[in-house]
Amino acid sequence: MKLPTPLLALLAASPLVAGHADHSLEKRETRLQRRAGAGAKCGPSAGNAVCSSGLCCGEDGVCGTGGEYCGAPGCQLSYGPACHGNQIPAGGDTSSIPRPRFGNVPYGVDITECVKKGQMALTFDDGPYIYTSELLDILKANKVQATFFVVGNNGAKGQIQDASSGYPPIIRRMVAEGHQVGSHTWSHQDLELVTAEQRRAQIVNNEIALKSILGVIPTYFRPPYTSCEGACYGELSALGYHVVNYDLDTKDWENGGVSAKSRFQSAVNSGSSSNLGWIALAHDIQEFTVRGFTQWMIDTAKGLGYELVTVGECLNDPPANWYRDPVTGGPRDIGGGVAPPPSPPTTKSTTKSTTETPSSSSTKASESSTPDVKPTAVSRPNFGAGAQHTPKNNSTSSPPTKSSTTSALPAKTDVPTTIPVPSSIPSAAAVEKSLGLLGSNLLLGLVLGVVGMGFMVVA
Ligand SMILES: [Zn+2]
Repeated sequence: MKLPTPLLALLAASPLVAGHADHSLEKRETRLQRRAGAGAKCGPSAGNAVCSSGLCCGEDGVCGTGGEYCGAPGCQLSYGPACHGNQIPAGGDTSSIPRPRFGNVPYGVDITECVKKGQMALTFDDGPYIYTSELLDILKANKVQATFFVVGNNGAKGQIQDASSGYPPIIRRMVAEGHQVGSHTWSHQDLELVTAEQRRAQIVNNEIALKSILGVIPTYFRPPYTSCEGACYGELSALGYHVVNYDLDTKDWENGGVSAKSRFQSAVNSGSSSNLGWIALAHDIQEFTVRGFTQWMIDTAKGLGYELVTVGECLNDPPANWYRDPVTGGPRDIGGGVAPPPSPPTTKSTTKSTTETPSSSSTKASESSTPDVKPTAVSRPNFGAGAQHTPKNNSTSSPPTKSSTTSALPAKTDVPTTIPVPSSIPSAAAVEKSLGLLGSNLLLGLVLGVVGMGFMVVA
């Protein structure tokens, strides 16, 4: 309901309302000038208070240090200077490299389906993590190539290009064994809930990290939470990225993967492998997925006649086009052999959360890929793969299905809509208070409106 303009003007001119507004502004300015110390509240729920230097504004809106406060994606970038998502990897800025376009796969538009029928691209998001080596073993044993959309610095796992994290050899192994590596941002932020500058940093920082590890930057990208709209797509297009989402969401993160198999089964049973192709979403940060579900997906898909391939292959894009040379910007084939990084990466120190020994030591990497440093589990992973991935229009009760006559690159019909993940959720009391104020204002408006109408009738 909208109040008539004269009534709004009357309300605004009221000493009570005007005085309230001035007072609020004064308080807000005071809060903005203050820097919050450890244990103090921060973020939108605390008048946009920013933590002091060296502190992180955790997802609960309190300043602190360590993975619980600083780990991504929960740490609130705009209010916590030391958030891991604000760290910049060593290795040289990539933002000014040339970005020529090559190949036939479109840039900066939403891609959700394989072009080639009879193929399925298994994709694994949010890693690498402690289970990734084990997953690579499974894929190798099955002679299956997959696609990894990696995140550079989430869950307080350390920066992927940092040797001490144990992840560089695992990412090199992905490429060496024929898998495709794409970017899933630096710290898994929702790209629609950050500033334009932060969004660009999310893309570029992961390039810097991957360039340090692989000697190239990827041309394939998947936005966290499938959250990317006009300006975001424009930026990804300008930076030369193919934006790949999916048309088979296993929801392997939901309730321990309880519905993952039935969702997968319903999808693949909706047609024949002779006229369907799939880009399936799973997560290598999920123990369920690595220890059982992936083998089941492979067996089921192969049993139905699907060929398991990388995203690039199912889009008919040759491997050279999957990566960009960081000097020329042109395509660079590193399949089976990773270009050496320009110089050994060194990184700024990263405050890690309290860590614990991995729950299992069953990871058995091949000789060439055994990292000198084993990745460690984090006590509070918070990788952002949970409920935040829930697409609004793709409920658990409705497994993905599609017509076998869908076009190769479809419109955004079966793609999850943007999932807003507020960095801070207003408290129930705050909501109640705003609703109460709204109700009072509406009541006042109605009374004044009726009185005004009375005058008009009399006039
Ligand atoms: Zn993700």
